[in-house]
Amino acid sequence: EGGSEGIIGEIRWMRVNTLRWSVEAAVEWFEKGGWEMFEEVEEMLAAAQSKPKVFALDAHIEPLLALPAAVSLPTISAYQDGRLLAQDKASCMPAWVLLTPALADAEDRAAARAAGEIGPDEDLPKRGKGLRVLDATAAPGNKTTMAAALIAGDEINGKVTACERDQGRFKVLKDMLKRADAKNVQPMNVDFLSLKPDDPKLKNVTHLLVDPSCSGSGIPSRLDHLIPSAPEAEQLARIKALSNFQMAIVSHALRFSGAVRVVYSTCSIWEQEDERVVMRVLAKKEFRDMGWRLAPRDEVMPTWERRGRVAACGGDETIADSVVRCLPEDGTNGFFVACFVKDENAPPIEA
Ligand code: SAM
Repeated sequence: EGGSEGIIGEIRWMRVNTLRWSVEAAVEWFEKGGWEMFEEVEEMLAAAQSKPKVFALDAHIEPLLALPAAVSLPTISAYQDGRLLAQDKASCMPAWVLLTPALADAEDRAAARAAGEIGPDEDLPKRGKGLRVLDATAAPGNKTTMAAALIAGDEINGKVTACERDQGRFKVLKDMLKRADAKNVQPMNVDFLSLKPDDPKLKNVTHLLVDPSCSGSGIPSRLDHLIPSAPEAEQLARIKALSNFQMAIVSHALRFSGAVRVVYSTCSIWEQEDERVVMRVLAKKEFRDMGWRLAPRDEVMPTWERRGRVAACGGDETIADSVVRCLPEDGTNGFFVACFVKDENAPPIEA
């Protein structure tokens, strides 16, 4: 989840809601309002010591801006009307990773169309057009609305189905969809595990976001800057139960008949909820036989340096390199992201 409204240390992360606005328009709006733009977040933070109105574009995630943490949200009208949303950088990674290849395909299609190589209604033989995302565990809806924004344009024209089991949180989700103007999302107050993966109505679901409830050990409270590197003994039973629940949710997602790409994420730093869930998936013959494997690093935030813990991946450096970790020292919440892709022709993974 977003944590304390996008604030991590000295940074306040704001996502440009491209359902209501564009990054170009946002930059112009800030600059007209007397804000100075910096190329690097670090430079922006240094300048913020003497100048309050500064911002930077994020180097990894296109619709993301970094502002100084001291900026007060009520003073920013574009936040008040939902053109900007407060969302931690790490929390933006799952939808970005899920949709990176589809966005690249859409760009190729648009370029081919502009060059007259394909007609207005023609398609390149690639996945992506009309794609359908299912967000298994959606409230409050940060990742749902980001996915919806990324696939909303004419070139993809995608839709999101968003499941939330809890009634109170379902209401929060619906409020967020309204605030973000996410008309291409169908919210469902349902237990994801009760959906049938072979339901004909869900057979065109190709991409799934799996961001289940977790220990939240990656979210530093305002007073507590130090996160212990391992759970306390008394917490272990709870972490184990969470890890089993996370495994059940991600397994259910992998069984959807049309699924080709599934992103798993947590805001936990415990390996039991992170790499070890991934290793349990990779070890299952059922999933190997279906063609599931881990997406390689070049599809999963390739320029992000902090990767998985090798020891927690059974010593396998390739597996560790394919997944992403984040820590508060990276200017984000503690977070974990892995992406599974289905390739029916791939040789089975030995894990
Ligand atoms: N992805 C969300 C976002 O970025 O705003 C945060 C999701 S939060 C970590 C997990 C959510 O999953 C909670 O709202 C919880 O109520 C919901 N949840 C847990 N188990 C579920 C299930 N079996 N089916 C649907 N929703 C579930």
